[in-house]
Amino acid sequence: MSQLINVNGRITPAAEAVIPVLDHGFLYGDAVYETLRTYGGAPCLADRHLRRLAASCSRIRIEAPDPGRIRDEIARTLGEAVNAESYIRVMVTRGAGAIGYEHTSELKPCVVIIVLELQPIPAERYRSGVSAVLGRRRRNPVDALDPAIKSCNLLNNLLAHMEAQDAGAHETILLNTRGDIAEGSHTNVFLVRSGVLKTPSLRCGILSGITREVTIEVAESEGVPAEEGEYPGEDLDRADELFVTSTLQEILPVTRLGGRPVGDGRPGPVTQKLHAAYRRYVGVPAA
Ligand code: PMP
Repeated sequence: MSQLINVNGRITPAAEAVIPVLDHGFLYGDAVYETLRTYGGAPCLADRHLRRLAASCSRIRIEAPDPGRIRDEIARTLGEAVNAESYIRVMVTRGAGAIGYEHTSELKPCVVIIVLELQPIPAERYRSGVSAVLGRRRRNPVDALDPAIKSCNLLNNLLAHMEAQDAGAHETILLNTRGDIAEGSHTNVFLVRSGVLKTPSLRCGILSGITREVTIEVAESEGVPAEEGEYPGEDLDRADELFVTSTLQEILPVTRLGGRPVGDGRPGPVTQKLHAAYRRYVGVPAA
């Protein structure tokens, strides 16, 4: 089992990795990231992740590093790690320079790749589902800090997640400032009502999750009617099924919301069908 960190091409054990304290990523959360995982030792959906990383860089005016180089460095770091499966986090920070908001040419982006042993979600959670709470806090509004930017400035998400932790729940579902369902603290949200899959559209101010994207694609190939739209928070109480998606959690049923059962309180048939289809899509047996 290895925990390795690659900082600008230099691979060390996690505890020995260093970045300058004056890096604006550390000072201001002025950095973007991607979380990937391996299946069978190979990074999954790497093209999509690297495209989104480049888009995040461009939205905050960091020059995007060459995706081919990042891919090579991920492969090199994975090669040195000896993990059954790995968690991979790629970060691009603004770089180190003088303190202050001025963006100068002195700042050269720093690329960090973290490789850890993957801690898979226990199979039991897919069988019984997890609980979630509706956040008191709202998701950052698009015109303040667009959630489409996958930035390392994660306080909105962290404070939201504390609400779940305080309630002993797995996830917090956040509404946007208009009162419509947005996303989870670290997941996208789907609900099923009368056999139709519904997920907040990108207009709601969310991250365009890669698992979300694949879920919509597999729904289509499985013949599950799917729509993206703007859904008021109350729709969560009317859902027959509810699930959250992320690279690490795949398609995870939410069977309790705010202490009340969702539908009959068990993972629903659409959720299970889509999870099986998602697993086939990424090339692994059903969970
Ligand atoms: N929304 C937020 C806020 C997230 O942090 C994540 C996890 N990166 C997701 C959605 C899910 O994205 P993905 O499917 O690309 O992992």
